[in-house]
Amino acid sequence: MVIVLFGKPGAGKGTQAPRLAEALGVPILATGDVLRAALKAGTPLGLEAKRYMDRGALVPDAVILGIVKEVLATEQFARGAVLDGVVRTVPQAEGLERALRELGREVGAVLAFEIEDEEIVRRIGGRLVCDKTQQPYAGYAPGTPCPDCEGTLVRRKDDEPEAVRTRLEVYRAQTLPVLDWYRAQGANVRTIDAVGAVEDVTARALTAVGLDGRP
Ligand code: AMP
Repeated sequence: MVIVLFGKPGAGKGTQAPRLAEALGVPILATGDVLRAALKAGTPLGLEAKRYMDRGALVPDAVILGIVKEVLATEQFARGAVLDGVVRTVPQAEGLERALRELGREVGAVLAFEIEDEEIVRRIGGRLVCDKTQQPYAGYAPGTPCPDCEGTLVRRKDDEPEAVRTRLEVYRAQTLPVLDWYRAQGANVRTIDAVGAVEDVTARALTAVGLDGRP
């Protein structure tokens, strides 16, 4: 099953993705993580992406669709995927659909995480990520060792207030129309209340994809 996680930056997609992926038995494709890894490795992809990412702008669709096509065609992704932050523009949604059709697959559900801007600003203000795994953590000071591995908790450059404002504007202008596009296609779009305890949001998301969401 291919599940698209949709929502504002900071809505909890990165937190929910591993939980949903585990329950569904499929891997995650998070383009933000792929780009950050490329940046860290200093590859041409990473260097190009950096120009956009640092200020909170979107990386060009062609770059994103190149990654998506390559990854989804691998054996590891044959049973499906949880897509985290992948479909951020209508051309990306169209490109994803074409790529999946060529592989004989389709999007099973679009989970739209709903949350107010004020809550986003509050969450991102307290968000750090592990510099090794990119997993988000809250309630720690920057520089703290990661509680789950040998990494260190750091603030993402694009989690600075100015970049967050840009990312929310970009979301409204370029990403929100994707939801209407999916609805117009008759896709299985489910809205999920993204406010509350992490496990409660997971339960809502699992229920929405037809799995028993009870803890
Ligand atoms: P994320 O980790 O999903 O918040 O992504 C971090 C940054 O990576 C975004 O602000 C964009 O600059 C870039 N990015 C990640 N995924 C995409 C995408 N699907 N389309 C365009 N840019 C992306």
